[in-house]
Amino acid sequence: TAPLAELDPEVAQAMAGELARQRDTLEMIASENFVPRAVLQAQGSVLTNKYAEGYPGRRYYGGCEHVDIVEDLARTRAKELFGADFANVQPHSGAQANAAVLMALMNPGEKLLGLDLAHGGHLTHGMKLNFSGKLYDVESYGVSKEDHRIDMDEVRKIAVAAQPKVIVAGWSAYPRHEDFAAFRSIADEVGAYLWVDMAHFAGLVAAGLHPSPVPYADVVSSTVHKTLGGPRSGLILAKQEWAKKLNSAVFPGQQGGPLMHAIAAKAVSLKIAGTEEFKDRQQRTLSGAKILAERLTGSDVVDKGVSVLTGGTDVHLVLVDLRNSQLDGQQGEDLLHEVGITVNRNAVPFDPRPPMVTSGLRIGTAALASRGFGDEQFTEVADIIGTALAGASDVETLKARVSKLAADFPLYEGLEDWRLI
Ligand code: PLP
Repeated sequence: TAPLAELDPEVAQAMAGELARQRDTLEMIASENFVPRAVLQAQGSVLTNKYAEGYPGRRYYGGCEHVDIVEDLARTRAKELFGADFANVQPHSGAQANAAVLMALMNPGEKLLGLDLAHGGHLTHGMKLNFSGKLYDVESYGVSKEDHRIDMDEVRKIAVAAQPKVIVAGWSAYPRHEDFAAFRSIADEVGAYLWVDMAHFAGLVAAGLHPSPVPYADVVSSTVHKTLGGPRSGLILAKQEWAKKLNSAVFPGQQGGPLMHAIAAKAVSLKIAGTEEFKDRQQRTLSGAKILAERLTGSDVVDKGVSVLTGGTDVHLVLVDLRNSQLDGQQGEDLLHEVGITVNRNAVPFDPRPPMVTSGLRIGTAALASRGFGDEQFTEVADIIGTALAGASDVETLKARVSKLAADFPLYEGLEDWRLI
């Protein structure tokens, strides 16, 4: 019964340090967000104690009557939010959701066609060191050299030649909408299943601000913790005909007991995602990313060899292209870190620099929108980043501007009082 700070001061101290870091700096990693207090409470709850292998009503353990309610709520909310026939909310993470999707849709050795990791794809879409690259015969499509967009004629050509069993759309670093109808028609033409991994843009889809892949794809997977703003975890949506195969691929195929505390947190965040307030947040996320893209195509940064891939964005992130800049991705990330802005370096397509260095930055606006930022604050952040990348100000001045924004938008007020409950 001893509180954490007493029982384990070392962990408690590191946690306090992380809370302070989240409060005092500006989080712009495109795959991160701040969960609401209710989600933290659900996740940090006694549901972590419960084993519940199986699915609601068909468990391999007794005492599941309460967690059944929670999982049913999460499934129903996921289906309603995205207009899907079927939902599985048990995947522990996005990668595990994807492993289950592949297990359900294809056999080892069969062909998977996905976006190249170096062009914005995810590890689980066929990277050679990932299970997906080891188990499946992987073929990739990329973005065009001219405009850095996915060229659907090119995807079609590759698909016709490769005859894949599964085509995956979706990405980790791509700033534009994808044409799901075109992906569907290519899949139909070559007799492939279409899987869309909407991990990054699921929140925008939920808010109706991004085309939905659900009507087009056989299966849609997602994380819950990026724009969707919930706990770190995954989920799968599908047409009803896939229900049995997907359920069996998640459990017992990939996982044992579901994390019921995480599923409770998912249920809460899916409820929040149906609100007007959530929609407003996604709107501010999009608007912030557009403001950032505009600032980072200003003449002062362009003069320093900095630009934005595709010239703008349709989503919650901007991909900064540093191929012509003196700064590489690592230096850009370090410089912004010094200023108090957290981003990640990211390889750009056709990157001449090595993967640990890179020539790009991926900058997202979802977490700051959750913090309450609107156009005015995003204009200030965008100017801080533009000024830093153009080398036009000293770090201390920029740091003070970051601190003011952080102080104006306090995060998790009163958390010290209840985090130990
Ligand atoms: N799918 C996509 C498109 C992603 O960007 C990510 C995370 O970066 C994942 C899946 C994997 O999610 P997780 O880190 O929860 O395994």
